[in-house]
Amino acid sequence: MKKNMPIILSAVILFLFLLGLRGGRPEPISRSAFLLNTFVSVTLYDTRDEAVLDHAMELCREYEAIFSRTLKTSELYALNHRAPDSVTVSLSDDMAALLQKSLYYCELSGGAFDITIEPVSSLWDFTSGAASLPDVDKLEQALTQVGYRALSLDGNTLTYHSPAFIDLGATAKGYIADRLKEYLVGAGVKSAIINLGGNVLCIGSRPDKSPFAVGLQKPFADRSETFAVLQADDQSVVTSGVYERHFILDGRNYHHILNPRTGYPYDNGLLSVTILSDASVDGDALSTVCFSLGLDKGMRLIDSMDGVYACMIDEDYRVYYSEGMEAYVKEGADGS
Ligand code: ADP
Ligand code: MG
Repeated sequence: MKKNMPIILSAVILFLFLLGLRGGRPEPISRSAFLLNTFVSVTLYDTRDEAVLDHAMELCREYEAIFSRTLKTSELYALNHRAPDSVTVSLSDDMAALLQKSLYYCELSGGAFDITIEPVSSLWDFTSGAASLPDVDKLEQALTQVGYRALSLDGNTLTYHSPAFIDLGATAKGYIADRLKEYLVGAGVKSAIINLGGNVLCIGSRPDKSPFAVGLQKPFADRSETFAVLQADDQSVVTSGVYERHFILDGRNYHHILNPRTGYPYDNGLLSVTILSDASVDGDALSTVCFSLGLDKGMRLIDSMDGVYACMIDEDYRVYYSEGMEAYVKEGADGS
């Protein structure tokens, strides 16, 4: 027994040393899954309570069951497949809240962002790997049904003034991230990262109180290749780009942010738009809104808003920051 004492002692000293390095903090715990049509992960830095992670993933499933465009049991599916004569529909609180936000951004963008893009977006296939364009006649026909003014929302009552079909792909992940954060904060979590397919929402800061570092991916490059690192403290970081859901045909890149006026992807010289904001639903909506508006109008919009910052990259890989954004950039494009 005595013979082992030095070994045991050194093991204890090493353990205490490592604990000291971590300031006595627990190891982070993390859970990932393929949900919401993307990779979802939640990492908790200040608790080891697996039940909290379980519930967070369960919440993702519950929200998917509301907002999914394709799940036949979802509330959104029911809306998009309702009887044509049902002009007013009563919505769940979550659906009403997200529709209200989304319609606000449709209006703010002057229709460049339009959640009634569904008949058009469902004609495009950016996920199967098949690089093919939609049928032109079908696209033309679908375009006649696009226009968010067909919808009006009063509390939980949605009224259709003409046929319309809804796609919440541009805002749902942000809304769901906010709801997960709400739950986690309520459960006592003070340091965590929620990542819904690159839609990142931080809770607080790192356990040592320094901000979280969120890498911004270089367009078309390997996921690990970043062009800048943002310092996010209790904030959301969301990017919309031309390189995530896309295909290349005849040397042209076709991506999933569509112009509601033409039915084709926006081709405005932008590769990506990143938004730093408090609420993730605003970041998610604004990343798509600003992409739709293009560099100049998008930057002007962000500069007119408080507490919201943008970083945009154009096709020459030039990086543009909105007013105040650089204060959050830890490592710039030049590696500084
Ligand atoms: P991601 O899905 O990568 O988070 P975005 O938040 O930018 O990307 O949302 C893109 C999605 O929004 C598309 O996949 C589609 O479902 C929907 N969409 C496409 N074009 C528009 C548009 N002009 N306005 C609103 N939603 C759009
Ligand atoms: Mg978005």
